[in-house]
Amino acid sequence: MHIALLSRNRNLYSTRRLVEAAEQRGHTARVVDTLRCYMSITSHHPSIHYKGQEIEPFDAVIPRIGSSVTFYGCAVLRQFEMMGTYVINDNVSITRSRDKLRSLQLLSRKGLGLPITGFAHSPDDIPDLITMVKGAPLVIKLLEGTQGIGVVLAETNQAAESVIQAFMGMKANIMVQEYIKEARGADIRCFVIGDKVVASMKRQAADGEFRSNLHRGGTATVIRITPEERSTAIRAAKAMGLRVAGVDLLRSNHGPVIMEVNSSPGLQGIENATGKDIAGMIIEHIERNASPARKAPPKPKG
Ligand code: ADP
Ligand code: MG
Repeated sequence: MHIALLSRNRNLYSTRRLVEAAEQRGHTARVVDTLRCYMSITSHHPSIHYKGQEIEPFDAVIPRIGSSVTFYGCAVLRQFEMMGTYVINDNVSITRSRDKLRSLQLLSRKGLGLPITGFAHSPDDIPDLITMVKGAPLVIKLLEGTQGIGVVLAETNQAAESVIQAFMGMKANIMVQEYIKEARGADIRCFVIGDKVVASMKRQAADGEFRSNLHRGGTATVIRITPEERSTAIRAAKAMGLRVAGVDLLRSNHGPVIMEVNSSPGLQGIENATGKDIAGMIIEHIERNASPARKAPPKPKG
């Protein structure tokens, strides 16, 4: 197969590993810079041009769209979808996953465990919003943050109220969330491919930090997850429509609660922690599910 990796940077660990895994399994892979794709939207011949030429046909596209280019990246991906190319995660699912509130609303419909989360517009509603999530300590987060940036722990109701007021004043979209204290700065990343959790790791926040993101100094170790955690992760990925997902869970007193579902989960942390060939498993999933690029049907003989 001929596989495209939509990625801005061919030197990123995940991009390099996916290219390597594709080649090891006998495929060709090309890194395509998302922002250098431009497109012609026509009914009969929708196409993508790349650096001056019409792009060649691919059997599958692996999107690795960074959060800073979600809008453009999803437009490019959608164009591949319009051209009939198999994409491992589609543009709608990726767009969903980039909005934490939208994701939680979708997950709540499936009855999955979530931290109590509130969302409001008017500063007049802040006191009741704080009560809704059981009061301080509570977590305030930007709907579109990543890598732990934009996630704040407010220790008192007073601090919570002024931080929420400040964000509202800046017209930043935030949600307010019950603080899962008993998780003690740890979360569990479940790496889902298709309908399986293929690897999982525990991330522990650095001392004095409650955010377990590796970018915030968290450390990763292998962990055995419970059957309930496994099924929660699989159902979460499915609810979002993602075939490859990093589902982050916290262990709360009332079972696993979902933090977020990532549509371009990094490979470095999970491959290093578990020693597994996750990139190879993603390529294998494509082999099983992508039909070869549409070729003209053979001409009838005679
Ligand atoms: P980001 O997209 O920036 O990673 P998250 O919502 O995943 O944002 O939050 C980052 C980290 O902060 C989580 O991995 C978790 O360790 C911690 N955290 C976030 N929300 C809560 C919460 N409600 N209770 C406890 N810890 C939380
Ligand atoms: Mg996170």
